[in-house]
Amino acid sequence: MSSQCPTLRAAILVVSTTAAKDPSTDAAQATLRSVFEQDGGNQWMVAETQIVSDDSAEIQRQITLWTEPVDAGKDVINLVVTTGGTGFAVADRTPEAVSPLLHKQAPGLVHGMLSASLAITPFAMMSRPVAGVRHNTVIITLPGSPKGAKENLQAVIKTLPHACLQAAGANSRTLHSGGVKKLEQEAGLGSQGQAQAQAHTHAHTHTHSHHHDHGHNCHRHTHSHGHSHGHNHGNLVRLTSENPKSNDPSLGPSRRHRSSPYPMLSVDDALSLIAKCIPSPTTTTAKVTPDLVGKVLAQDVYATAPVPAFRASIVDGYAVVVPPSGHLRGVYPVVSTSHATSSSNLSPLKEGQIARITTGAPLPPGANSVVMVEDTVLITTTKTTHQTTGQEIEEESSVEILSDDIVKPGANIREIGSDIPLNTLLLPSNTLLSPASIGLLSSIGTQSITIYSPPTISILSTGDEIVDPSLPRELSLGEVRDCNRPTLLSAISQLGFTPLDIGIVSDKTNHLETTLRKALRQSDIVLTTGGVSMGEFDLLKPTIERSLGGMIHFGRVNMKPGKPTTFATVPVKNNDGTKTEKVIFGLPGNPASALVTFYLFVLPALHQLAGITPVGLPKVPVVLGHDFPLDKSRPEYHRAVVTVSKDGRLLATSTGEQRSSKVGSMEGANALLCMPAGPEALKKGERVEALLVGELRSDLA
Ligand code: AMP
Ligand code: MG
Repeated sequence: MSSQCPTLRAAILVVSTTAAKDPSTDAAQATLRSVFEQDGGNQWMVAETQIVSDDSAEIQRQITLWTEPVDAGKDVINLVVTTGGTGFAVADRTPEAVSPLLHKQAPGLVHGMLSASLAITPFAMMSRPVAGVRHNTVIITLPGSPKGAKENLQAVIKTLPHACLQAAGANSRTLHSGGVKKLEQEAGLGSQGQAQAQAHTHAHTHTHSHHHDHGHNCHRHTHSHGHSHGHNHGNLVRLTSENPKSNDPSLGPSRRHRSSPYPMLSVDDALSLIAKCIPSPTTTTAKVTPDLVGKVLAQDVYATAPVPAFRASIVDGYAVVVPPSGHLRGVYPVVSTSHATSSSNLSPLKEGQIARITTGAPLPPGANSVVMVEDTVLITTTKTTHQTTGQEIEEESSVEILSDDIVKPGANIREIGSDIPLNTLLLPSNTLLSPASIGLLSSIGTQSITIYSPPTISILSTGDEIVDPSLPRELSLGEVRDCNRPTLLSAISQLGFTPLDIGIVSDKTNHLETTLRKALRQSDIVLTTGGVSMGEFDLLKPTIERSLGGMIHFGRVNMKPGKPTTFATVPVKNNDGTKTEKVIFGLPGNPASALVTFYLFVLPALHQLAGITPVGLPKVPVVLGHDFPLDKSRPEYHRAVVTVSKDGRLLATSTGEQRSSKVGSMEGANALLCMPAGPEALKKGERVEALLVGELRSDLA
């Protein structure tokens, strides 16, 4: 059996502050490797190992990385085993860090490990293991002592291949085709009675893998995405409806979490989750008019007509028929004129004749070049009657061409389709329409085009303390004027989108729920600020999970400012009874955090919904104009002014104190500098990337 089995990939995470400082002190890793080799029936390879300190964020970051859904064809990590941090010491926090990451609990594995260890020592009671599945990976937490870790892993290693294959998406029917007895045989386990066999059967509720998703499915309730719904979209559905991570507000302040139960995501991971969860943009037909500037094309536009539509003169002068020699110097009779006007009957031109022609006018048949008026002199005139005024005028009757240059046929002529050839791709889909695009569409006579429907986004502020700034009154103690809503409304308008103002919502669950429902009905994206921190009145997450049946895709991001930024999707019934998913961004209440996270997370979502690519703020490399302090643990988006200096470099200067509450740190800023976390300052002259939120300043007078 074992020789036919696929190799399962295991990752070992050593959780130990001591080993993180000095890896040579770690013995657990080598012990676990040998368990995989000796007891693993040749089915295991240890694909990854890492050492982290007893730090929740580090533990979660590493496990999240290892358990990310992988693209088709790439290898998944089948099993993550942690060792360390499962005891009762103050620093022991591995189970607490791992628990919130689990999409499915595996109490059976926990039981297996504990009962095996208990048979050896009562001190097994001092271990607090957790086990379960995240996306397609089984995770178990082993004790830190090499002996304990070894015994625990040995206790479950025989059953793990089966669990891992199922978690990775193997068809459970095939796996089960021989019944439990066969499974036990294959695992090298004797049947230890009814209880085990039954537990085993119950554990398999016939989940099937779904090829389109690797676990993080954002559209579970949507019926418009063409997925088959007979498959397992289940992990995260269960996560929301059966296992909300948020506080239960009815339990009162003393029962709330004291640290966020949401794993801390990196900004990049948060952004890719957003990208996955934003619904496809919708399209609409629009007449070609100047107000389409700023809208986004949802179709390729091909030139259905050439421009120019006729051979036209580029200059004012005389149409000629170039002789084979190319020499034109001499006196010619002016036999006709061609003006830039609609003309149906132009008389043909013969060699030896010329025709007066204006810029943009059609060439007479037979003419093959135009001589500029500057290269000619008038020789003779005749009297004639003006076509429109009826007055007598002097008309040219002969003109001398002065130039000795050899003239090539085609000179000074715009050939048919030379500006826009027929059938060429004029504007590709996703073009952000500019005045020039309107010009192109008008030139070829396009009447209507398909564009992406502009997304609608509604905005509300939350907080009992928040007061509408338009109220002309003094504030009472504790009150705060609403700064976020006006800021975000104007940011959205400035970016060319249309915001919907939903006002201020108090910190009461029912008020928040009703208002969110209303906002969700009216818009594609709902933007809230406040109520996402750890206080007892921070109700956004509980309301989304517990009242709206939504799914929180992330509730914490490793960044400064903006750590509590929250992103969720919520199933919403349309007016016609169909269901769709709408998006909620819960931005932090602190004004600088709200604006920074708007630019970082909401703008890309708006762009994606609007069909605009690339999404998000433009990124440019800049040079620091002075030393910049760094945050020790979180990457920071430092508000700065970027100026083009005389030597052509982009120089960044801080807007000053960066506290999250200080919206003034954003005033005047045209960039967010992407600063890494670090112990010391970044020095003047170093290069970092900057996200541009405004126009570049220039030092060049
Ligand atoms: P919260 O996340 O609701 O605890 O808010 C964090 C901080 O931001 C608190 O000091 C709030 O008073 C403040 N805050 C929340 N919303 C706003 C807002 N709309 N305008 C100004 N300050 C706000
Ligand atoms: Mg609040």
